[in-house]
Order: sequence, then structure tokens, then C-alpha cells
Amino acid sequence: MTAPKYHLTSYGCQMNKLDSELVESKLRQRGYEPAATEAEASVVLLNTCSVRQHAEDRVWSKLGKLRIRKRSDPSLVVGVLGCMAQEHKRYLVSRMPHVDLVVGPSAFGDIDDTVEMARSRNAQIAAEREPAKTRHEVQGAGVVTVGQGVSGDLIRRDVRVRPHRSQAFVSVMRGCNMPCTYCIVPTTRGDEVSRPIVDLVEEAQRLCDDGVTEITLLGQTVNAYGRDLTGQNATLARLLRALHEIPSLRRLAFITSHPNFLNQELVDAMAELPKVARYLHLPVQSGSNAVLKAMRRGYTVERYLARLDMLRSKAPDIELHSDFIVGYPGETAADFEATVDLVNRVGFAQSYVFKYSPRPGTLAAELPDDVPDAEKERRNHVLLAAQEALTWQHNRALVGKTTEVLVEGVSKVDGRLSGRTAHHRLVHFASQDMDLVGQYVPVLVTEALAHSVVGDLLATTAAQEGAHDRSEVVHP
Ligand code: SF4
Repeated sequence: MTAPKYHLTSYGCQMNKLDSELVESKLRQRGYEPAATEAEASVVLLNTCSVRQHAEDRVWSKLGKLRIRKRSDPSLVVGVLGCMAQEHKRYLVSRMPHVDLVVGPSAFGDIDDTVEMARSRNAQIAAEREPAKTRHEVQGAGVVTVGQGVSGDLIRRDVRVRPHRSQAFVSVMRGCNMPCTYCIVPTTRGDEVSRPIVDLVEEAQRLCDDGVTEITLLGQTVNAYGRDLTGQNATLARLLRALHEIPSLRRLAFITSHPNFLNQELVDAMAELPKVARYLHLPVQSGSNAVLKAMRRGYTVERYLARLDMLRSKAPDIELHSDFIVGYPGETAADFEATVDLVNRVGFAQSYVFKYSPRPGTLAAELPDDVPDAEKERRNHVLLAAQEALTWQHNRALVGKTTEVLVEGVSKVDGRLSGRTAHHRLVHFASQDMDLVGQYVPVLVTEALAHSVVGDLLATTAAQEGAHDRSEVVHP
């Protein structure tokens, strides 16, 4: 009998991509095989994101196409996983009969059972996690419970299931306890739950034994890691120090941090541990105290800048990345100008800028969305232009310097090899040698582009000399 084939598409953040790896790992353990294309799959799964309307729109559109396919192929199993499953469960179950399973992020531990039930029963199933088990609601067949459900994090991960041989993500916590008014994550992912340090070290060790040399730790507020682990003295700084001991690990990054939890202990770890990546993603969202207050971010611009001073005084080579929302309800032109000023003052190396869109179920969605679309568009454009000018300055300052690059693969644009520096900067260089993928190589930067740099590969012996070289950092 041929193994059933699945196709899984991930939307949204890195956390979702990692969840998808965990789901794949469970399905493969159950005998499923990945399909080369969606058309070949008998199980089509969408791991969804609710953070922005655009991400949801793509899923609704995809579900429309799958409805048509299912008319001619009724045995097809269609599953909606992740945040939209959590947020729109009732709608999906009641209005989309072609969707066979609806599984929120906390019920991935039993995903293989859920898929099997959907295939064998030909019934629509919604799964959600209760404290000690996963509850499966089977439409038309009452409620049944299968096995002892565990959240995705508690699955013993099959470390072989990952897209890159030398790089891996590790989820250190789930959920978020912060009250940001615009954000649906606390609703869809629930309260913060951190994993014990010992489990994380064990998983990281297995990844490194399987060839991983760069690990990125994931959490919605990753630097709040451990505050729910009472009595364990678990902090992100302690976790970094523990992971740093793994001999074959060369780079250790973490995303995404919240300004309120950037403390001296973490700054000291970043300054002292040479394997820790030389960038910090620290979203500020706005340069206006009035908007920050309305968003309930829990800090002021002055406090944010004071934290950066603390960081830069101890670890001046760390580059800063941020996120911004423009057009939040009530954001005035002066508020927005304050944001542009802040971007220029800090000199971020990279920022993501988003136009505000209300997410149903959030506090902000109850406010009038009073910044007109055209003005949101203008602010988005202005802020992006300010950031791009800074990014280009950062890139230009690298020209003439040698930097260590972890080679990730072939650039889609021009066929050159590309990889990233310890500062997360994208570097392209000419080479046909695919054996370099996964290796750390020295590259002399010769040209700055808007979002990356171009360079020449140097003799590999210099790679060792360049290891943990922090010389490329520039603060315009
Ligand atoms: S910190 Fe705020 S923006 Fe980030 S996930 Fe939590 S609630 Fe959302």
C-alpha cells in the first residue's frame, strides 16, 4: 500500500514555520510522506496566521480554490491549522464544510491522530487542547477524546525534519502575556508557557549532533523567557549561557524581544558570549509616547532609548532591528513625525513597517480606524524610505571589510551563493561550489545594495580567523 501524501503550507511568522516542522515530524512518524506538489497530496494542510489581514486573506482565497478541487476529489482531506483555526473555528466548522480539520496551535501534539480521524471518518473535526488532553469535536458524531494531547513544544522533535542542514529554530516558549491592544496573538496562542532549560539544551544538542551550527530561539516575547517557570531561575541569559557550551554550535540568535525585558543580565550575556548573534530585534512600534500608551506597550520612547544606551554601552557591536505600525487609531501627523525622528536617531539596521489594520477580537478594533488609507500609505512609504536610507548606510560601511558568512544557498535573483553574517546581513558572492552551503566562509565586501551586499569569496583558511569577527558593525 502506498503511503498517504501530505502537503503543508506555512503562512506568517517563524514560529509557524517551526510548528509546521513539528507537524511534519508527527505525520512522517505516522507513515505519511511529503508530496512534491499540492496536486499530488491527499492531505492538504494550511498552517495559518492571524496577525495581519493580508495573511488571512491569502488563506481564505486558498480555501476557495480547495473547495473547487474537493468537488471533483471528495476524498481529499483539507486542514486549517494554527492561529486562524483558533480564531475562526466556529466559522470554519459551520460555514466551510469542505474543511475537514480545524486544529489550533496548542493541539498539534495529536495532529497525526486528528488527520487519521478525518481520513477514516470522513467527518469534520475541530481539535483544541484542554489541560491534560486534546479534545476532538467530530461534527455529527458528538465529542470524542483521543490520546493524551500535548502541545507542539512537548513533542519529542524529529531533528531530521528541517529545511536547512546547518540552521534550526527552537521554540523556547509559547503564547504571550502582554496587553498590546492591536495584537491577536495572546488570544490565538494563549498565555506564556516556557520550556525548561534542560529540555532546550537536550533538543539543541540533538540538532547540533545532526549537523546544525546555527540555532535561533523563538518566542513571541523571547526575552521574557522563563518568568512562568517559578523556582527554576530560568532566564534567557541563563539559557544562552547553557546553550553556548555546546561545542559544535557556532551561532545563537533569538527573536523577538520586548523592550521591557531587555535587562542588564541579558545585555551582559550578549556582550560576553561570542557565539551570540550580533543583532537584536527589539520592536518599538512608534516614536510617539501618546501612541505607545494607546497601544499599551508598557514603555515610553525615553525608556526604550535608555535600554538601548544600556545595551550599547556594554555591547556596542550589536545592530538593532525594529518593527513599526503606522496609522494606528488616533496617530496624528506629529506622532508619525516623532516615529521618523526615532528611526533616524537610533539608526536601525533594518525595520519592518506595517500599515495598521484592525484585527477583530482586539481592543484596538473597537476604536475608529480614523487614519485614511491614503495617509497610511504615505506614512508607510515615508518610513520605509527613511529605513532604506539607513540600511544602505549600514551596507555601504561594510564595503572593503571582510566578514564571516554562513552560506545558506543559491540566490534566487542571480544564481550566486548567498548567506548571512553574524549581524544577519545578507551577502551574495560568486561561486559554483555547492559544497560551501552550510559552511562559514570569509567574504570581502565589494558593493552595497539596498537590502544586501556583494563580495568576493576569500581563501577558506581565513574563515577561522574571522570567526566571531565583530568588526563590521556601524552605527550611522
Ligand atoms: S508582545 Fe504585544 S505585539 Fe508581541 S505578541 Fe505579545 S501582545 Fe502581540
